[in-house]
Amino acid sequence: MTERIQEFLRDRRNKGLDVEPCLVVDLEVVRDNYQSFAASLPDSRVFYAVKANPAPELLAMLASLGSCFDCASVAEIQMALAAGATPDRISFGNTIKKERDIARAFELGINLYAVDCAAEVEKVARAAPGAKVFCRILYDCVGAEWPLSRKFGCEPAMAVDVLDLAKRLGLEAYGISFHVGSQQRKLKSWDRALEMAAAVFRDCAERGINLSMVNMGGGFPTKYLKEVPAVVQYGRSIFRALRKHFGNQIPETIIEPGRGMVGNAGVIEAEVVLISKKSEADDVRWVYLDIGKFGGLAETMDEAIRYPIRSRHDGAEMRPCVLAGPTCDSADVLYEKMPYPLPVTLEIGDKLLIEGTGAYTSTYSAVAFNGFPPLKTYHI
Ligand SMILES: *Cc1c(COP(=O)(O)O)cnc(C)c1O
Repeated sequence: MTERIQEFLRDRRNKGLDVEPCLVVDLEVVRDNYQSFAASLPDSRVFYAVKANPAPELLAMLASLGSCFDCASVAEIQMALAAGATPDRISFGNTIKKERDIARAFELGINLYAVDCAAEVEKVARAAPGAKVFCRILYDCVGAEWPLSRKFGCEPAMAVDVLDLAKRLGLEAYGISFHVGSQQRKLKSWDRALEMAAAVFRDCAERGINLSMVNMGGGFPTKYLKEVPAVVQYGRSIFRALRKHFGNQIPETIIEPGRGMVGNAGVIEAEVVLISKKSEADDVRWVYLDIGKFGGLAETMDEAIRYPIRSRHDGAEMRPCVLAGPTCDSADVLYEKMPYPLPVTLEIGDKLLIEGTGAYTSTYSAVAFNGFPPLKTYHI
């Protein structure tokens, strides 16, 4: 929570504009985060994962700092271009693409594509002839708070065949990618993934395919309630792993931070709509906010991400509460299995500050479910 955000929220309240929840992102924090990534991993190109927060002001600032962009759709590619990135600084990093979208991206000048199977390679070969492709390998994501499933990537042995096919179809078999799982607090995760990547490099070399690049994905954490290692520690750990597994032939590398780039730059201000109990004897209060899973807090699914929450009563006695959103959908409960401690003096109408909400919030918010408007966002 920065001074600038506090001042912005104060001003918004004074103007009486605080009638709906809002997200405020401090772009100076994003700038610091970008510079930490660039300084801690000086030999890696930074491809910001646009899906984490695609606000035009944020993309424009990152573009001006020299960032590249990992995009998952034609619309995201167009946003990155509009922000000032040239096509050589953009990847189409989704392994699941329509052939006509690949063709459109190719027309826009995009030359770097993710694949994880033969059918996707065939699409890229037809729609983006001669382009560079990297093959995503599966990774189990142990230690990640928001793990990614088996949805993306293939077994390393299959990656060799996929890249071999790419080469035979006239594409440039460029490299390997992996993602260690989002909000990954284990520094060691990249070590094991890089070991797998190095093995694919060797197997490919034996088949005459010389790969050049390892895309080490995102996963860099942001601070919620638990402490997380600093970016510089990730940088050192990754560099050691690259040395260990690639010796003096370290390939070109890319990182794709999303959450780690923007998470701690944002704060959501929400309002307490109702505080109630389910029976007189109940000692757990239900606290209903004007924001929930459909208003941007979708990552509370399975109570995976636990945000720090502040109020004007900080310092008062705390008691566990069930925290829920305002919509008429019973899935719209944020924390129940593990109730959330909130001040006993909390009242209806109080504002709550939900911290660490710069990533994966604004674009998760529904357009008009139950008539609630999408989350208002300000980038300052
Ligand atoms: C979502 C995504 C990222 C960003 O992940 P974070 O954990 O937010 O850093 C990076 N790369 C790819 C391919 C992604 O899909």
